[in-house]
Parts: sequence; structure tokens; C-alpha cells
Amino acid sequence: MKFGNKFDRYIAVIFFVTIVTVILTSYFTLKDVINSHNKQVQSAITPLFSLVTSEILRPLNVANFMAKNQFVIDYAGQDKIDKDYVVSYLNKVAKSYNMIAFIALEKHNLMVDSNGKESTLNSSDTEWYTRLKDLPGEQFTDIGNAQNPHLYFDNKIRDREGEFIGFTGVALDLNYFASKFQEYNERFGFELYFVDNNNIITLSSNNIIKTESHHRKGLMTRLSDLPWHQSLIKKNAADKNLSSEVMYTSDDGLLISQMPIQELNWRMFIVSPPAAQQSEYWKIFIGRFILFFIVAIIFYMILLSIINYLKSRLIKHAETDHLTQLPNRSHVHSRFDDMAKRNDNLCLVLADIDNFKNINDTYGHLVGDDVLRIISEQLSQTLRKVDVIGRWGGEEFVMLLPETTANQAHIIVERIRKNIAAISFPISTTSGTFTTTISFGICELPLENKTIVDYIEGADKALYQAKSDGRNKSVIFN
Ligand code: GH3
Ligand code: MG
Ligand code: MG
Repeated sequence: MKFGNKFDRYIAVIFFVTIVTVILTSYFTLKDVINSHNKQVQSAITPLFSLVTSEILRPLNVANFMAKNQFVIDYAGQDKIDKDYVVSYLNKVAKSYNMIAFIALEKHNLMVDSNGKESTLNSSDTEWYTRLKDLPGEQFTDIGNAQNPHLYFDNKIRDREGEFIGFTGVALDLNYFASKFQEYNERFGFELYFVDNNNIITLSSNNIIKTESHHRKGLMTRLSDLPWHQSLIKKNAADKNLSSEVMYTSDDGLLISQMPIQELNWRMFIVSPPAAQQSEYWKIFIGRFILFFIVAIIFYMILLSIINYLKSRLIKHAETDHLTQLPNRSHVHSRFDDMAKRNDNLCLVLADIDNFKNINDTYGHLVGDDVLRIISEQLSQTLRKVDVIGRWGGEEFVMLLPETTANQAHIIVERIRKNIAAISFPISTTSGTFTTTISFGICELPLENKTIVDYIEGADKALYQAKSDGRNKSVIFN
């Protein structure tokens, strides 16, 4: 029994160590996967920065260059200008980039762009001109034209005396940006936000087309309106302005990086969502884990019941005498120990078949075996559930009768003895029969401080007496 418990414990330990190992391995694998995913996301941010440099900063420099170019300034100051010449100049400038270049001249009440489109400065198309003209500052960024949105970089042109003479600048097609941003968004889940120095969103990747001109104040979106920014501020309360070019994680796990675009006095925010995907990973992990755990438990239960079944068969096999299917001698010993714990008195009976050697000699061993089987059945029949009958050895049987007096045992045994004496034992080789008898030695003792050997000794003496008295007898030891 002790071995059995230990064995069960080994199985349980091995099983749970396996489960824990599998879980830990998957946990760390998942962590690695998430980390490499994060690295991939982060490394994708670098080309995004160069995209911004090439698509925004270079055109901005071109716009600055045109406004400062002495040739442009001098030409604009002439009394008469050649429109076609101006258009071809703008066209050359614009061609190298994905943009439109334009010039608006106060003196000529004219605006032309690189596509050859022209208008006067008091038309609805040039509303921006009068608005920006009176504003302090030399350089403006503006988003306009809702049908075909463009990001405008407008620079004031001043003559040699510093007098304002008009605007020059470039317009970047926001649809083109949108497609670029969309590409990044689809590949890495990035969201991009461009924010001016008043913390107003000038451009964003998720609704770039809808972004309103930033001078229409009623429709502006502020950085502080965005949920991820609110949680970012809350989390990094100590660092109010959020130092630049730093990665932050918001409460909901978004990875946020920030880059200043000094030329525009803007900031760009890249909001990447590894956390959203991470929680997906974890959801999958936990789902699989639960499934695995249930399967493992079921598997463990099945394994355990198989082991228990095999064990019980093994134990039964080890405890049972093969010929008679009665408990064997070692099992009788352990049953005696169990009884000794639970009872005060016990009566042990030894039974020995009379002249059994003769049966073997006369009819053969197989017939002898039949006799052993038939007699063991007879011995078992009249016993109570609490009693034990076992094969002690050869043609000897032992009975353990708890809380039974020698006289009570004697009555039982006498009945059995007479029954056996009346049996016609078959001879399997012929159709004949024969009879045989059995003798009993009965020993009753109080259980305290007694071993089975004490009982056997007494019962053996009584049995010897029965044999010497002529066999087919039951004798009480005293
Ligand atoms: P007594 O009346 O004094 O008990 O005489 P006995 O012949 O019964 O006693 P003895 O001890 O001389 O012989 C017992 C015989 O039982 C000897 C042995 O061959 C036989 N025997 C023991 N085990 C088995 C068994 O499993 N099958 C068969 N067929 N015979 C067995
Ligand atoms: Mg014997
Ligand atoms: Mg015998």
C-alpha cells in the first residue's frame, strides 16, 4: 500500500512538472514573439522618419529657397512679367518633387501655379492671401481646398527694402500622403499625428482627408482631445511636455514615439499598437492554455484510472492463491494485522485434509487439485463477511473469525466437516467417485499483544491432537 501511494505521488509530480514546463516554455516563447514583433514595429519607424523628411522637409526648403531667391524677388518687382515664363519656372521647381509650386504677387494682382492655373488676389480661391498677409511672421503652413486637400507652405516675399511684395510657396497633395500613411498603417498599424505649436492636429493618418484647415477654429482637433494622449499625460505627469524622440507607452499599452519637425515648429506622433496585438496573443495563449489544461487533466484522470485498475489487478494477483482463488498466506498475515487493530478477540482455525497424499498417489495430482478447489469452496460458504479464509499451504487452510468464541467456531467447523465428509469427489479420469475427510484445530485468544504465530501454534497443536485422535475431527486448543 505504501508503495502504491508513493507511486501515485511520483506520477502526479511528473505530470505537473510536465504541465508547468509546457506552460513556462509557451509563456517565454510568446514573450519572445511579442518582443520581436515590437522590435519590428520599432524598426519600421525609422523609414517613416525619412519619409517625412523627403516628403515634407525638402518641399519646405524649396519654398524657403524661392522666397529668399534674389532672382525671384527682382523679377517679381518688374513692372511687366511674362506669365508663361513664371509658370515654366514654377513647373521646373515643382517637377522634382510631388507638389505644386505657386507665386502670388501684390503688384500684379496675380497668382499662378506650376500647373498654369491663375487667379486674381481678391477671388475666393485666394482667401488665404489677405488673411496671411496681415499676420505677423514670414512663413505659414496651411491646409486648404477641401475637394482636393493640400498642405501649403506659404512664404512672404520681400523686396530689397524689406517691403512685402507677395507670397511664394508649395502645395503638397495630401492624398499622396494619405496613401503613404495608409501603407504604414496597414503594415504596422501605425497612426500618425502632426501637431502644431498650439497642440492642434494639422494632419493625421486616420482621417487625413477630413482634416479641416487649421484656421477654421470651430472644427479643430486638439492633441489633448485624443484618448491616447490623455492617458499618456496622466501616466507621465512628471514630464509635462514629453521630451522629444522618446518612446512612451500609454495606459492601454500603445507605443507612442514623438519627433519634432523643427522647420515647421510641429511635432509628429507615431502611435503604434503592439499592445492591441499583444492582448490578442495573450488571449490566444490563455485560450490554448485552458484547453491544454483541460486535456491534460482528462488525460491525467484516464492515466490514473488505468494505473489504479492495473494496480488493483496486480495486488489481487499478488494476494490470491492461483489454484483456489483464496487469499494466500501473506495476505492472511496482513488481514490478521487489520483485524488485530479493530478487534479484541479472535478465533483462528487450521484445517488440514486427511491423508491427502493418498489421494494424489491414488488418483493423480489433477484430481488432488480438484479436491483442493471443492474443499476451499465448502470452507468459504458458511463464513461471514468479516471472516477470512485463506490457503495456508499445501492442503492446509486457515480461517480468521473475529469476535468468535472457540465453541461457536467449533459448531461452524463441525458443520463444515460433516458436509465435506458427505461429498462424493469426482475422479475426472474415470466416472468414479471417492470421499475424504478433513481435520480442524481451533484456537481462541484475546488479541492483545498476540501475533498470528501465537494462534497458529495453538491451532497446530489442536490439529495434531485431531490427527492423533483418528482424523475427521475438530479439536479446541486449551
Ligand atoms: P495427514 O492426514 O497427516 O495430513 O496426511 P497428508 O497426506 O494429508 O499429509 P502430508 O503432509 O503427508 O501430505 C500432503 C500432500 O499434499 C503432499 C503434497 O504432495 C500434497 N500437495 C500439496 N500441495 C498440493 C497441491 O497444490 N496440489 C496437489 N494435488 N497436491 C498438493
Ligand atoms: Mg498437511
Ligand atoms: Mg493432510
